[in-house]
Amino acid sequence: MSDCLFCKIIAGEIPSSKVYEDDLCYAFNDIDPQAPTHFLVVPKAHIPSVSAVTEENAPIVGHIFAVIAKLTGELGLESYRVVSNIGAQAGQSVFHLHFHVLSGRDMTWPPG
Ligand code: 5GP
Ligand code: ZN
Repeated sequence: MSDCLFCKIIAGEIPSSKVYEDDLCYAFNDIDPQAPTHFLVVPKAHIPSVSAVTEENAPIVGHIFAVIAKLTGELGLESYRVVSNIGAQAGQSVFHLHFHVLSGRDMTWPPG
């Protein structure tokens, strides 16, 4: 999608600090980290949010979670939080599906 920030990052049109990449997904450090470790994992396909996940594209989401398990394991992260905001009221500011991976500090529940 031509005017999507994360599609531009995936295409290399906007620089990012890459953590991981494969055919289906791209992971990069958040520009405004909210924890000592804070990276985003996004599908290369433009899916607007979790609310646009279907039986057809759900395998990409499953793959992303396998990638999160692999990356956090490689980084030695034993405790972390995976977050996806859906819609502006929940805090979504970029409308390309992404999973935040946050780790390295105490976290509270419920989230704000
Ligand atoms: P959301 O608010 O949609 O859940 O998450 C979007 C995230 O993207 C935010 O945590 C924000 O800091 C991050 N972000 C916004 N613009 C950029 C950018 O240009 N580069 C990177 N690496 N992260 C960005
Ligand atoms: Zn996009």
